[in-house]
Amino acid sequence: MTSSILTAVAWPYANGPRHIGHVSGFGVPSDVFSRYMRMAGNDVLMVSGTDEHGTPISVQADSEGVTARELADKYNRVIVEDLAGLGLSYDLFTRTTTRNHYRVVQDMFLSLYRNGYVFSKPQMSAISPSTGRTLPDRYIEGTCPHCGYDGARGDQCDNCGNQLDPIELKNPRSKINGETPQFVESEQFFLDLPAVAGSLGTWLSTRTDWRPNVLKFSANLLEDLKPRAITRDLDWGVPIPLDGWRDQPMKRIYVWFDAVIGYLSASVEWARRSGDPDAWQKWWTDPGAESYYFMGKDNIVFHSVIWPAMLLGHNGAGDRGGEPGVFGTLNLPTEVVSSEYLTMSGAKFSTSRRQVIYVGDFLKEFGPDALRYFIAVAGPENQDTDFTWEEFVRRTNFELANEWGNLVNRSVSMAHKNVGAIPTPSTLTDADAALLASSKAAFDEVGSLLRRARFKQAIGEAMRMAGLANKYISAAEPWKLKDDVARRDTVLHTALQVVSDVNTLLTPFLPHAAQKVHEALGGSGVWSAQPEIRTVSEEGGPDYPVLTGDYAGQQAVWASRPIEPGRPLAKPTPLFTKLDESLGQTGPGWAPIA
Ligand SMILES: [Zn+2]
Repeated sequence: MTSSILTAVAWPYANGPRHIGHVSGFGVPSDVFSRYMRMAGNDVLMVSGTDEHGTPISVQADSEGVTARELADKYNRVIVEDLAGLGLSYDLFTRTTTRNHYRVVQDMFLSLYRNGYVFSKPQMSAISPSTGRTLPDRYIEGTCPHCGYDGARGDQCDNCGNQLDPIELKNPRSKINGETPQFVESEQFFLDLPAVAGSLGTWLSTRTDWRPNVLKFSANLLEDLKPRAITRDLDWGVPIPLDGWRDQPMKRIYVWFDAVIGYLSASVEWARRSGDPDAWQKWWTDPGAESYYFMGKDNIVFHSVIWPAMLLGHNGAGDRGGEPGVFGTLNLPTEVVSSEYLTMSGAKFSTSRRQVIYVGDFLKEFGPDALRYFIAVAGPENQDTDFTWEEFVRRTNFELANEWGNLVNRSVSMAHKNVGAIPTPSTLTDADAALLASSKAAFDEVGSLLRRARFKQAIGEAMRMAGLANKYISAAEPWKLKDDVARRDTVLHTALQVVSDVNTLLTPFLPHAAQKVHEALGGSGVWSAQPEIRTVSEEGGPDYPVLTGDYAGQQAVWASRPIEPGRPLAKPTPLFTKLDESLGQTGPGWAPIA
């Protein structure tokens, strides 16, 4: 049965290039899931974009001597190219600085405001005297009032662990330029989270199939929900859409509030670009549609509590009641799929400590599928996981190249050399039939794992099938069957059928290699479609690049497809390049060693 599946992928922040830890959290898992769902016949809408507002962008822009917009343009371009290179099959990867996004954010704000879930009140906040901008808590440093430690941050003291308010710090100073912050009373808007806590709790109690850690974490947060500020004294962000506020140069919607609305605004933009402006509703207001949100674990709170709270308020479904807002009654997340951290020597990747491997550098040297494979098979799906070059070399050489690449190469080579085409089988032995049966059965097993976002088990099962095929060929020894051509051709046909099946099972993980195997088996046309970068325009705004693609046109379908005897085969080229063993000890020279 066809379902409408929304894949909502966390928005990478555009203050620099992304590293392989980032794409192991939000990128590769969401793409594997979407590719599988499309192959299984569902209508998938996969959306995201770069998150471009907020203080860190302004601060970075000041330090590079450019405007915030110029900085966002630069890193939006870098990130779009990296994600395209990795083959992430977004239906639309856009950005938060579009006119469309501003409109959708303001409409969401107004719907929440009209229903009474957004209110304003004065708040003491720290301002930079030289720029007039809000100084976020973590950008203020000073002496801890509890322990006297001089490097305490405005949000907490790392020495004694106490939570702090910046106004409590003695001798406070800006981490950006050393100046003394000014504490002023300023009117801000707040999201009234306590007013939806009851409905949130009821909804969370229906999410019984979520991962237990996500449920427990979310339930704990519900016990102590407070109104949360959604505006700031800043000049970089979405203006507040109310009279008396709209034109204030130093009042903007807070970056986290606008970024989560991006899932909806990107869907709306995708629909408009598709020629049917209402098409987004199929994934958002049809109660039968499903939505899956992918992110790293540090973002769970926004997807399991805050975004659902905003949706409930918009829908008029909290304690204050209300009417559904301008977008109608919007669906809450079906599933929140969070990853743990990819680390190096046990520590998080860190740009400031140069403990980092950028996606662009990695792709240039090793190509996309080796990284996709590593993340799927050895990534941080259930626990923090260390990246080491040694492990990367081992996985690439012994699993990708030896187990899978070699199976494809030797079975296609033998058929090409002896027959020149896919051979015609005769009577099957029990061993032939058993191998073909397990290969067929793997579609249900691997498919049900992918549907539940169990990527590691899923790829393990697909690779186990490749291992069985290798054992089968070694036992059947087709190269010794020169005098029994019928038997030899049956063995080769059986092996090639399993190669075709395993290739389909691996397509969501290794879409670039899958295209090559499709061609090695004599296929033509697009087996697994790749995203492309297009430059688009919108009324009243500058042109910008987006990622999109024609995935409906691809041939890949989640089923065993009988290979056609007689289809001509060419001499195959190796699927994967083996890496030099020394790379495991030295790394590639441009990256840290773990
Ligand atoms: Zn302290």
